[in-house]
Amino acid sequence: MATDKAVDQLTLAEARTEVGPLRQQLTQWGREYYEQDNPTVPDYVYDRQYKRLVEIEARFPELKSADSPTQRVGGQVTTDLPKVPHDIPMLSMGDVFSVDELLDFNARQQGEDEADSPFEYNLELKIDGLSLSVVYENGKLVQASTRGNGSIGEDVTANVKTIKEVPQQLKEPLSLEFRGECYMPKEAFAELNAKREEAGQPVFANPRNAAAGSLRQLDPQVTGHRQLAAFMYYVPEWQKLGVTTQAEALDRMRELGFVVNDTNRVVHTADEIQAYIDEYTAKRDQLPYGIDGIVEKVNDLATQDELGATVKVPRWEIAYKFPPEEEATIVRDIVWTVGRTGNVTPTAVMDPVQLAGTTVSRASLHNPDYLKEKDIRLGDTVYLHKAGDIIPEISRVDLKKRPADSQEYKIPTTCPVCGSELVHLDGEVALRCINPMCPAQIKEGLAHFASRNAMNIDGLGPKIISQLWDKQLVRDYADLYKLNRDRLLTLDKFGEKSAANLLTAIDNSRNNSLERLLFGLGIRHVGAKAGQLLAARFKTMDNLMVASQEEIASVSNIGPTIGESVAAYFANEQVQALISELKSVGVNMAYDEPETTTVAENSQWNGRRVVLTGKLTGMTRGEAKQWLENHGANVTSSVSKKTDLVIAGEKAGSKLTKANSLNITVWDEARFAQAMKEEQ
Ligand code: NAD
Repeated sequence: MATDKAVDQLTLAEARTEVGPLRQQLTQWGREYYEQDNPTVPDYVYDRQYKRLVEIEARFPELKSADSPTQRVGGQVTTDLPKVPHDIPMLSMGDVFSVDELLDFNARQQGEDEADSPFEYNLELKIDGLSLSVVYENGKLVQASTRGNGSIGEDVTANVKTIKEVPQQLKEPLSLEFRGECYMPKEAFAELNAKREEAGQPVFANPRNAAAGSLRQLDPQVTGHRQLAAFMYYVPEWQKLGVTTQAEALDRMRELGFVVNDTNRVVHTADEIQAYIDEYTAKRDQLPYGIDGIVEKVNDLATQDELGATVKVPRWEIAYKFPPEEEATIVRDIVWTVGRTGNVTPTAVMDPVQLAGTTVSRASLHNPDYLKEKDIRLGDTVYLHKAGDIIPEISRVDLKKRPADSQEYKIPTTCPVCGSELVHLDGEVALRCINPMCPAQIKEGLAHFASRNAMNIDGLGPKIISQLWDKQLVRDYADLYKLNRDRLLTLDKFGEKSAANLLTAIDNSRNNSLERLLFGLGIRHVGAKAGQLLAARFKTMDNLMVASQEEIASVSNIGPTIGESVAAYFANEQVQALISELKSVGVNMAYDEPETTTVAENSQWNGRRVVLTGKLTGMTRGEAKQWLENHGANVTSSVSKKTDLVIAGEKAGSKLTKANSLNITVWDEARFAQAMKEEQ
């Protein structure tokens, strides 16, 4: 492994001893990262060692080797997906870690030309995802593949067809290959990891690995549920597009129907490069997708071709990587919380630190294996970073600062709430409390039932639920509908008004359409989307309860896992009793058909691209989105030049600013409410 000695101080013998283990270590990390989508060290740790290897090989050319990680792109194709050869190799990219290094690279790249006519560069954001190649014939998508080892990738055509940003049909009948980045938006990444943690599955280390793991699936339905997105940025055979610069190629791709990131900028001077880097270093946290740097590309495409490539990287582009944002703090406690499905999750409680724009004092440790692997102990000094720019994570322990009397952390064997013995279920990394009467699980279940996308009972949060439970006023979902004013008035800080409001919210929830109830019940694997699909197919709770596992599984986008879980749930007698109770307290058990598509076709909203931002007061964002989609609008999450309208509620932030800067029409909630009325 690498020593601390500077590379320019190494003797040949020392370098020779170091290089083998260093390559082995990098190869191992590469396998975990590229092939298993499961890195065990943060990127900057890999980058530091990789850079050292590059420096050693440059200083001692006799140690160069064709099988060094510096001569290889990515990893091997390891999935059972069919293989696809890349006629034009898909390469990696060189990187630098400071603006000075970047300017040095430019000077070397341009040689003597620099002073006379410096290159024009196109700067782009380096999206934290995985490269994707898509091939069209006569405008029709015929093949999509991953980069793999650069010469052979995996065929992910069926999976890519589930990504709405990748058009299945171009606006022109071209036969051409396009390349870009498939990624997972930050919100989807956070949601996916939360779900995986709850389901007892290992979490993804970052959005890049989450996107790769989601795209390289044998079952396209799994990919379809993962909310992947894609930005396209490269046309290897650019001549066929009639463009001469990279910036023009981006515009052409946009015209053809691709989603192209609109933050690129053509620059000529070092100051302009510095300004772009500064701007996006500051904006990085607010972007809805993760970026790990800036890509600088020679803008002139003919010059790109002249510069060519090494076996591993093009000579006309380079990545400037952001410095890792890390802060040290001390672990004071490890607390265990019980989730809705009995998953018992450890969280590190630390001295608060400022990290990438927020104060952080807690980080999930996901499961006992993770905690053991990192060997995190009370009193340890740890380094924190934000996975995918969003989730605080402990990257490593500073062993030098470990207190002398430190003891290995003991994983609990009993539930911190009900005291029953904890178990490891087959194939899970999670520790679970399987006592169905565990108060923590029931309380979490009630909070989920009341949550916005489920029964939407405004005002029924975890604190009130806790009190209702402790005072024995509520034991299950049906009990919520038996609450009355007098009972509510016994709660802390509950006056006439809050009691009346809560009762109204509970009462209103009786009329919800079936899909909300299905989601709210917390049936394993049934999220809001599956609830919607099941409700639309079976129409009533009674129909669904008598449906066979196969019938349920055969619903489009449902599949056998949900089929099995739903059938098993309704076969349970306690569940049947609960449903009868819910019926008897007047909870609606039928699906409300949304308005038909003729509404959409005739609507002024049909085909309009709308972005919702800020807090709406008269409706939830989910409801607004549903209404807009029912009327044919295309509701997207980020503002771009193609956005037709932004509806901005209270405290709208960066999306509103961007809409104003792009001169996009902005409506407030009142204007939107008016338009909704006009559609009635
Ligand atoms: P890379 O991911 O650093 O850069 C090349 C890739 O950038 C391209 O293939 C492309 O997919 C992508 N990209 C994103 N936006 C782009 C844009 N606008 N234009 C062009 N390309 C764009 O290179 P790599 O060889 O795929 O991987 C190296 C990276 O992987 C390093 O960051 C390294 O830290 C990480 N890695 C980490 C580990 C680990 O164990 N943590 C192991 C191996 C590699």
